[in-house]
Amino acid sequence: MTPPRREDVADPAPGHLPVADHRQVRDAALRLIRQDTGAFVTMIVFNALAAAAGLVGPWLLGRIINTVRAGGGVDTVDRLALGILVGAVAQLLLARHARYLAHRFGERTLGRIREQFVDRALALPASVVERAGAGDLTARGTTDVVTAGQMLRDTGPDVFVAAVQALFILGAVFLLDPLLGVCGVVGLTGIWFATRWYLRRAHSAYLEQGTAHSALAEVLAATASGARTVEALRLRERRVADSEAEIGRCVAAHDRTLFLRSVLFPSIDISYAVPVVAVLLLGGILHDQGSVSLGTVVASALYLQQLSQPLDTILQQVEQLQSSGASFARVEGLAATPTGPTGATTPLLPHGGTPEDDRIEVNGVRFAYSGTADVLHGVDLSVHPGERLAIVGPSGAGKSTLSRLLAGIDAPVEGTVTVGGVPIADLPPDRLRRQVVLVTQEHHVFLGTLRDNLVIAAESATDVELKAALTAVGADWSDGLPAGLDTELGPGGHRLHGAQAQQLALARVVLADPHTLILDEATALLDPTTARHTERALAAVLRGRTVIAIAHRLQTAHDADRVAVMEDGRVTELGTHDDLVTADGAYAALWHSWHGEHRRTT
Ligand code: ADP
Repeated sequence: MTPPRREDVADPAPGHLPVADHRQVRDAALRLIRQDTGAFVTMIVFNALAAAAGLVGPWLLGRIINTVRAGGGVDTVDRLALGILVGAVAQLLLARHARYLAHRFGERTLGRIREQFVDRALALPASVVERAGAGDLTARGTTDVVTAGQMLRDTGPDVFVAAVQALFILGAVFLLDPLLGVCGVVGLTGIWFATRWYLRRAHSAYLEQGTAHSALAEVLAATASGARTVEALRLRERRVADSEAEIGRCVAAHDRTLFLRSVLFPSIDISYAVPVVAVLLLGGILHDQGSVSLGTVVASALYLQQLSQPLDTILQQVEQLQSSGASFARVEGLAATPTGPTGATTPLLPHGGTPEDDRIEVNGVRFAYSGTADVLHGVDLSVHPGERLAIVGPSGAGKSTLSRLLAGIDAPVEGTVTVGGVPIADLPPDRLRRQVVLVTQEHHVFLGTLRDNLVIAAESATDVELKAALTAVGADWSDGLPAGLDTELGPGGHRLHGAQAQQLALARVVLADPHTLILDEATALLDPTTARHTERALAAVLRGRTVIAIAHRLQTAHDADRVAVMEDGRVTELGTHDDLVTADGAYAALWHSWHGEHRRTT
């Protein structure tokens, strides 16, 4: 069976994480409600009871007016007044409990969203995260999740309570007198038009605001993390200009949403007064004609007056709902991102997804970064198990790109890169790291204990294995830690200096125990202050494994078993150092020029 080609798996728009559409957002919301149906239904029942209790007051007040006009006794009025008090207290207690239930529901649901987000973010293929940029993912995982959480915890319940109240109040006016009810509803149409106008524009305006925030975060994060490069290459002005452009986009997006709000709110305020005035006018005429009682007119006017409170809540929160909805769409967008090979495609892989041996084969590989022309034009390469293969060539020849394909970070557009007959990029992460690992300069220390930091690479490793890995890379300092493997690392805990962090990263490689390592000398462990410490550790890690080195020092090529020369996206020469020097081609020229210079300088 042929493995699925990478293009068969839907890719997100080049460079961007997708945003969930209306249907996906609705489905996701329904799914979250279904996960806590009991709590949701109880919340609705208490809301309905609270809203019903809220109707008692104006209705009884109308009855008091009618009783007084009809010359009724003080006793009756007292009883009705007591009823108003009981109604108000009941409404207060029921509403409090309804809100408490809603907040609990919101907190639990927010917890689920957070967990889902972390699971989905961790399942994203490295290439998707790299192309989207860490800024976008971070903004979604922080600002957007918090905003969506606010909706669930505060805005959502408040709006829900208010909506139920508003419905009950309108229903009560209709029950008192349908004509006054119609009059009130017609008076409210201004609110409907203003809100419709707003809603039509708000979703895209808030989405644009979110995108502008992400872009700004991206630019600022890139500038901060690449500060040294910015300084070295004197890119300061360009970075400042880029930041200013993104800030300008943020300001424009905020201006747009501010404009929408500044039209909405005044229109709403005017619209509130209209139904009350209309009911008083029409009610007055009808009362004069004797077709409605004064109590009914007063109760209807009070109801409509009361309506402004829940409507106000709804409309004030509409803005929050819009921005929360856009945030939720961005958070849910992760679900629409292909999660790559993890699990789903494994059964389709040759040999059930288990490589037959350690042989790495590159066959007819073409590759292009999204939106660019091909950078690899048909690369063939066979890596022998246990050998040291050096890849050399001018800058831009495609060496790093090839190393990403060999490490399974990207998949070829055409052709195959396989280990033991299985496409490398389709291996799930836990299998992949037992085959091939790309060694980079990244030596991140995760928040957690030393053990947590190590078991990332091998979940079931015993303490003895963890300590052996640390010893293998010469991390003797770990013996002196206050709580041994349980010592907390990172900010707030024990801080590791550069060389120690690198040794920790290398100990993870030892634990993952891949048969093949890819070493990009441009980025791997070349920090001169720590080189002395890590060189020995690196040598220990490389021992007994196949090593593919993207060589920037020709000495590495000289010491390798074979050398592959890359030029313009192709392997143009392949053989031992001696063979290539004898062949007198591009490598020989490179070697003679470097060797000559090397001799002169030493
Ligand atoms: P080398 O490692 O030999 O210097 P690379 O593999 O880094 O070469 O680059 C090969 C070609 O691919 C170059 O033309 C480079 O500009 C392009 N390239 C590298 N990385 C990217 C990227 N992330 N997006 C688009 N083009 C890229």
